[in-house]
Amino acid sequence: MAPERIVLRFNATTSDKPVIYHLVKKYNLIINILKARINPHKEGMMVLELHGEPEQYAHGLEYLRSMGVTIQPLSEQVQHNETICNHCGACINVCPSGALYLERPDMKVKFDNEKCLVCLMCVKACPYKAMEVYF
Ligand code: SF4
Ligand code: SF4
Repeated sequence: MAPERIVLRFNATTSDKPVIYHLVKKYNLIINILKARINPHKEGMMVLELHGEPEQYAHGLEYLRSMGVTIQPLSEQVQHNETICNHCGACINVCPSGALYLERPDMKVKFDNEKCLVCLMCVKACPYKAMEVYF
């Protein structure tokens, strides 16, 4: 099957487990890690391309879910609505990847889509709903 791009979210108990190793070893899946931010004993996330035989792929995802990993298709994209944004900076404080940053000297909040991990932390943090999710 064609590679699928997915986002995995790890909770504090799974972030230090070798789940990716098991995906390769047990389910014979081919993995291309595109972005990752995993801190042992903290929440983490990983964006990857995954492919293999359909049955193995399905079992691999089942295994991830059984380990408490949340799976989300990468078809989700985050966008910064500059019309609504009031540049309060709340999203910068929660963004783990540096995708949201303050541009000087005008002190405007900017969004770099290339760095975005689609973790949705900014979507929850924005009081003005200026960080939007698209599918
Ligand atoms: S939290 Fe929302 S309003 Fe504040 S800077 Fe970020 S996107 Fe703009
Ligand atoms: S979803 Fe928001 S908080 Fe998460 S990496 Fe992208 S811009 Fe940063």
